Amino acid sequence: MGMQTTGDPQAVLEGIFGHPAFRPGQREVIDAVLAGRDCVAIMPTGAGKSLTFQIPAKILSGTVLVISPLISLMKDQVDGLERLGFRATVINSSIEWSQRTERLATLRTGGYELVYVAPEGLEGALSTILEGCPISLVVVDEAHCISQWGHDFRPAYRRLSGLKARLGDVPVLALTATATRRVARDIVQELGMRDPAGFKGSFFRPNLIITAQKKGAGRETRRDILGVIRRHEGDSGIVYCLSRKGVDDLVTWLRGQGVRALPYHAGLGGDERATNQDAFARDDADVIVATVAFGMGIDKSNVRFVVHKDMPRNIESWYQEIGRAGRDGLPADCVVHFAWSDVMGYDRFSEGTSTLDADGRAKTRALFRVLDGGGCRHQALVGHFEERIVACASSCDVCRGTTIADLVATGRRGVERSPRVAVHPDAADDECFEQLRALRRRLADAEHVPAYIVFSDAVLRQMAEGRPQTPAALLALSGVGPAKLARYGAQFLALLRSE
Ligand code: ADP
Ligand code: MG
Ligand code: ZN
Repeated sequence: MGMQTTGDPQAVLEGIFGHPAFRPGQREVIDAVLAGRDCVAIMPTGAGKSLTFQIPAKILSGTVLVISPLISLMKDQVDGLERLGFRATVINSSIEWSQRTERLATLRTGGYELVYVAPEGLEGALSTILEGCPISLVVVDEAHCISQWGHDFRPAYRRLSGLKARLGDVPVLALTATATRRVARDIVQELGMRDPAGFKGSFFRPNLIITAQKKGAGRETRRDILGVIRRHEGDSGIVYCLSRKGVDDLVTWLRGQGVRALPYHAGLGGDERATNQDAFARDDADVIVATVAFGMGIDKSNVRFVVHKDMPRNIESWYQEIGRAGRDGLPADCVVHFAWSDVMGYDRFSEGTSTLDADGRAKTRALFRVLDGGGCRHQALVGHFEERIVACASSCDVCRGTTIADLVATGRRGVERSPRVAVHPDAADDECFEQLRALRRRLADAEHVPAYIVFSDAVLRQMAEGRPQTPAALLALSGVGPAKLARYGAQFLALLRSE
């Protein structure tokens, strides 16, 4: 893009990403990386971990190698980076042979600032080429996948042990949103990190508005789920169910109610799963009804609600699953339905007598106690990660003194404005936002990318509220940099001027 940047992280943040300020922890991690240190960064979903290696990729000479567990996610990230003027690519098994050869050749000549690969791909031709390349940094995203104690152990991640040494003691940055000590220890050990810098961010996410509801208790769970979906008409959300049958039944029922819902579980064919996930990423479906098989591939920043029809397995899973909502920092509803029978259901999956099984059962019960108890939900959640906060005051049902009934009674985005439930901006801004969203959708479709790659919801919100009329005013928004301005500015300004 011929853009001027310096070696200064702040200048890259503003000049390329269009953000005025770093979020907590980002600068610390970037500084450690630029100093050539190994680093483990434990930050919650949505904290902005990607910038901690994307900014160094602009500053360091050589190539940043990013290891990421999901192929679909890599492509979206690279699409996003290309729109910011990065030289970035994906090399994995989904790339056809001739293209793959071409990319490997470019990699060999140092032509990329960032290369995304799957752990499975770290052998054969790629590994040989990597050993001869100026790799400046290895990034292990979702690094908890390397640990048996993580909730998402992936055997292929074991191939990463020894990688640091093979690449000539290159610095390693491990990123994860899983905060238990045991997992962190495994990460450092397995990756062979040496005297790593560490950063752990706060796990409190005040924009996740939590409501817990015991099943039965005079309410119909399905109706309440529909109520949450209706409150978010036009928004994206996820509904988690314990079983495949639960997913199928709910999808059928929701469709009967006119909801654009799609199923996702391990019983569907791989093609159908991929198609449904894609439709969700591209805003073609509003609601994904899923088992826990769904989630890690979701890099979508505008998920506005996560509903659990059944209780999650434990506090850690609950945190991960609701963490997929509100990554853009805007409010999101997280509703969890629970019952003692759900606890019994998990017991049936783990009837063994090993320590691991006993540990699992205890963890399930711990979550039940949190949900059934009367304390601040956020306090309990982050407490699980050894973090102490005062009661959240306004981000959970207990602190707000609200129930599911209040939530579903507020209707679309709270426009009937029960005063006790957080709401979005006023109706005129809302309408402008919808138009901006439609425009974003057209542009994204034309480029075959998910909508958020064009601009995040957070950017559209700023547009709807501030109605910028000039390129300079657009550039002043957080999330609009020169490359996006050049690419999309004219269309958005035309719309904003016509308002
Ligand atoms: P994580 O990987 O930690 O879950 P991401 O890197 O995907 O989070 O970032 C989440 C969102 O936060 C993205 O939409 C990103 O553009 C935004 N973001 C990251 N850093 C900043 C920042 N400093 N200022 C504003 N927005 C940011
Ligand atoms: Mg991430
Ligand atoms: Zn609270």
